[in-house]
Amino acid sequence: MPLYAYDLHIHTCLSPCGDALMTPPNIANMANIKGLDIIAITDHNSARNVRAVMSAAKGLPLKVIPGIEVTTAEEIHVVCLFPDADSAENAGGELEKHLPSVQNRPEYFGEQVVMDENEEIAGTFPLLLPNALDISIDSLPKLVGSFGGFCYPAHIDRASDSIIAVFGEVPETPKFVSLEVHDLESFFGNADNVRYKDGYIIVTSSDAHRLQDISERENFVELPELSFNCLRRALCSDTQ
Ligand SMILES: [Zn+2]
Ligand SMILES: [Zn+2]
Repeated sequence: MPLYAYDLHIHTCLSPCGDALMTPPNIANMANIKGLDIIAITDHNSARNVRAVMSAAKGLPLKVIPGIEVTTAEEIHVVCLFPDADSAENAGGELEKHLPSVQNRPEYFGEQVVMDENEEIAGTFPLLLPNALDISIDSLPKLVGSFGGFCYPAHIDRASDSIIAVFGEVPETPKFVSLEVHDLESFFGNADNVRYKDGYIIVTSSDAHRLQDISERENFVELPELSFNCLRRALCSDTQ
């Protein structure tokens, strides 16, 4: 089976922490220059820029998966991936309803810019997007599944905003098939963590907030063909 170079965790200028240069065409072009085959756009709790990146990538040999990085009620970040822009936007619309009514303060947190594929600014999102939703980690997989998507915990090796930071380990339930580990060497250098290599598929993505941080051709997934359904089968099976 062919191997595809992936980076399934990339923020745009919609995320307040995302650099202003993380525009839809810049991301598509940089991912293409780096030789990636498949990327996912995963802004915090919103999918408002996914369609623009997908449009910007048209004509490039690059598959763009629309996604969202959800912050659960427990403050666990979870990468959620969807089959198409409609399902991601519908899911995003539902998730946004669960945001606390805290306004973004761009002078502290950064702008949250909604943009089209030509870098025309459509507006800014008013509520602070990375805040925790009132959706628990237990209920998230089913919710994401109801929009045709699947999900797995993000950067489980981070000291904050991760499933291990919250629970001290990856709990048995909800059952995830994949886990995202940011720094493989350091995480698996700890003997306690080696057990996760057996029970899970380990995904490594950049969590890029700047163009230069988008992955090189360094992480690969084996797929029969380059499609969402094949990716879903590889990273999620049918358990969610
Ligand atoms: Zn995160
Ligand atoms: Zn992230």
